[in-house]
Amino acid sequence: MTEQLERVREFAAAELPGAHASLDTLAEMPLPLYGRFGDAGLANWWIPEAHGGLGLGLAESVEIVNELAYHDAGVAFTLFISVLGSSMVELYGTPELKERLLPPLAKRGTFCATLGSEERAGSELGKSETTIAREGGELVVTGEKYFSTNSAFADFLVVIGVSATDPTDPQAVVVPRDTPGVTIDKRWDVIGLRSSGTYRVSLDHCRVPEENRLKGSGLRLLEIGLNASRILIATTAVGIARRMRDLCMEYAKSKPFRDSTLLAGPVFAAKLGQMEMQIAVMKNQCEAAAREYDAIMSRPDAAGVFTRLGTLKSAVAAKMFCGQTGWEIAGVASQMFGGLGYTHESPIGKLVRDMRHVSIIEGGDDVLRDLVFSRYVVPVARRT
Ligand SMILES: Cc1cc2nc3c(=O)[nH]c(=O)nc-3n(C[C@H](O)[C@H](O)[C@H](O)COP(=O)(O)OP(=O)(O)OC[C@H]3O[C@@H](n4cnc5c(N)ncnc54)[C@H](O)[C@@H]3O)c2cc1C
Repeated sequence: MTEQLERVREFAAAELPGAHASLDTLAEMPLPLYGRFGDAGLANWWIPEAHGGLGLGLAESVEIVNELAYHDAGVAFTLFISVLGSSMVELYGTPELKERLLPPLAKRGTFCATLGSEERAGSELGKSETTIAREGGELVVTGEKYFSTNSAFADFLVVIGVSATDPTDPQAVVVPRDTPGVTIDKRWDVIGLRSSGTYRVSLDHCRVPEENRLKGSGLRLLEIGLNASRILIATTAVGIARRMRDLCMEYAKSKPFRDSTLLAGPVFAAKLGQMEMQIAVMKNQCEAAAREYDAIMSRPDAAGVFTRLGTLKSAVAAKMFCGQTGWEIAGVASQMFGGLGYTHESPIGKLVRDMRHVSIIEGGDDVLRDLVFSRYVVPVARRT
């Protein structure tokens, strides 16, 4: 791992110094930058060796994402979010589907996107209005997807919908991006993660072979895919928080305060000591969740174990805790800069906007509280 982490550090040092300004714009997706990450042999680092990838686990992914997010959270998000769709394919796709879809992610550094969210269904994806019909050995996918990251330039889309004949039967289907009927309606003007691309997408009678359907309930598969990406979203908060801490330290060294600098002030010391404790606990929770995930993934019956467990409590706890604690750190850090913290002159404002996503994407905190309550509090046997 040290070798890959070293390469990630080299990439970040060469490509992302002072990234806050150049990557904080929606002008163009910085695809050449992402291409160079692939050229460094790092693209989609979690793809198993059997499919031509590096086969790194989630614990190693935590290290990589922590490093990337320190420099730019949008870059980190773009580079890891394919784990959501690719892990669903890896666990629940046919051998042919895996062989077709996974090697290009590793070798060509391509992307995949997951299309769950809808305007009306919100987080209640059981109410999805995207339909999947069977017609003469093919599946016909039709619907409107509200938010989907990377879909404009992805190789393939993992679409969540329901059977056209039975709305209580959720399904997950792989739709190649170049399938006729796939339209990118717009790119969202997001307030943070602006080096990433999130799109509104229409699917108009997109025809794919029946074997493109992943095995199992579409909603369960989405839950399972979200385990990895939620842990890495949580890790993004760790990277952003570390960057905030370092900026606070730099600022405090030069900010005159009484007969010295802010660095010598006891109030500053207390805040930074608190911040360091919070970062340590955030990171520990990401690592613990990643270890649990890796232990399951290393089992020959991983797909079956995940089908039984669904959402891992450790993964949701990581996202909730890191989102909430990261937001607290963002408040302290931005105040540290006084009025400057409320301007675009200091990078802290960009980091605050980047931090906000952690508690929103892939389930807002209210939705996740509800999920933890029903899955891990109500059933007495699942309480810890
Ligand atoms: C930058 C970005 C990238 C994204 N990428 C993707 C992607 O790649 N693929 C994808 O499918 N989606 C993606 N999303 C969508 C994202 O996951 C959702 O926006 C997020 O999960 C929140 O869901 P929602 O927007 O449907 O809002 P909702 O969950 O519907 O929330 C709206 C309001 O309803 C409340 N609410 C909802 N349910 C409950 C409940 N059970 N209990 C109490 N209150 C509740 C919420 O607290 C909130 O106040 C992305 C979004 C963004 C901003």
